[in-house]
Amino acid sequence: DALEYDVVIIGAGAAGLMCALTAGQRGRRVLVLDHANKVGKKILMSGGGRCNFTNMYSTPENFLSANPHFCKSALSRYTPWEFISLVERHGIPYHEKKLGQLFCDRKSRDIVQLLLDECRSGNVEIRTHSPVSGIEKCDSGFRLSSNGQTFYCNTLVVASGGLSIPKMGASGFGYEVARQFDIPCLPTRAGLVPFTLDERKLRDLSALAGVSLEVHARTREGLFRENLLFTHRGLSGPAILQVSSYWAPGQDVALDLFPDYDLAEWLRTQRRERPRVHLKRLLAEPLSRRVADYWCDRHLGNPLMADISDQEIAFTVSHLQPWSLVPSGTEGYRTAEVTLGGVDTHALSSKTMESKLVPGLYFIGEVVDVTGHLGGHNFQWAWASGRAAGEVV
Ligand code: FAD
Repeated sequence: DALEYDVVIIGAGAAGLMCALTAGQRGRRVLVLDHANKVGKKILMSGGGRCNFTNMYSTPENFLSANPHFCKSALSRYTPWEFISLVERHGIPYHEKKLGQLFCDRKSRDIVQLLLDECRSGNVEIRTHSPVSGIEKCDSGFRLSSNGQTFYCNTLVVASGGLSIPKMGASGFGYEVARQFDIPCLPTRAGLVPFTLDERKLRDLSALAGVSLEVHARTREGLFRENLLFTHRGLSGPAILQVSSYWAPGQDVALDLFPDYDLAEWLRTQRRERPRVHLKRLLAEPLSRRVADYWCDRHLGNPLMADISDQEIAFTVSHLQPWSLVPSGTEGYRTAEVTLGGVDTHALSSKTMESKLVPGLYFIGEVVDVTGHLGGHNFQWAWASGRAAGEVV
């Protein structure tokens, strides 16, 4: 027998559950279908198990999109403070780690439980192990099937996320639905992802694996001051994840290892004031011993500061401020936190997330071409876009 709902939501992740609880609490009959064995898997693994559920300073500037204005409406109507007050109403303890990033004191599970409790009070029905196999438009809305059952709904919400971490149930399903209804999608690529290096460079840098430094990392369009981490596979750490979203193959990444110094002036001053100090020891102060040794061993050796020429200072500056590296690629969707690109926002209403071409069809969360910076912004987009749709479906 066919089952009828006002709203069917595909994907029980952050955006889908927020949409579901909002619509359910408005009295809509809501069904959420997810092909995974449990809901909110990405929430559970997020923030190293403590879910960085929002960012106090989230603004539209923290998002990438072919249409940077699109996210503004939803973000301004559901702010981080709205989600924080929900977290507080549920008595979930949290803390600011840094830069406005809010994490659970306990486990990410707290956030999933909050969403499930709110869904329950909206009488939302949630079915896991439920892949959706066919979607068709019909007179009163949509018909879809899952596990051999047919469902009818007036409104269909696609909240199936992006391509990152296929092992967690990520799929290109949302893009396929968009294509089925002739809704344009922008090319996707991995974002918030570590860089790989070619084998020669990797061998060369292997002595630095494990070193973490605060840097200014810059690509053509992105600039971030955060930590860089050298790993056995390449470059990682928050500074790298952030700029990776702005990087295109072939481009270099400029790493200023001395974000607080005018390096040329500092070296000249040190030469005057501490002429008996060796270069390695001096550079180890702002850098670390391993990075100072690495660089000196390959270039100038370990002279006394007194013996360093102006040309050698200029050479050092030209190599270290910034240090320019060309990644060979990224680790891809296997480890990326997000997927850039996706459903073209020009085809959606920024107020409601409804398709302009297909009334009754909505796209929310990561499947849409809106991608946040690292630090809780991606969940904030999931909450805000889920809310925007949930209020009208
Ligand atoms: P998802 O949460 O991915 O949910 C999509 C749901 O759809 C899933 O449950 C999936 O099983 C289901 N689905 C997919 N295909 C189908 C299908 N064909 N049929 C039925 N169901 C389907 N962001 C932050 O803001 N803070 C963090 O701390 C953070 N940490 C992260 C850590 C990791 C390791 C990763 C990978 C991401 C992290 N993110 C973080 C990003 C954040 O998890 C996502 O941006 C967010 O989950 C997107 O929400 P969503 O609801 O759009 O998609």
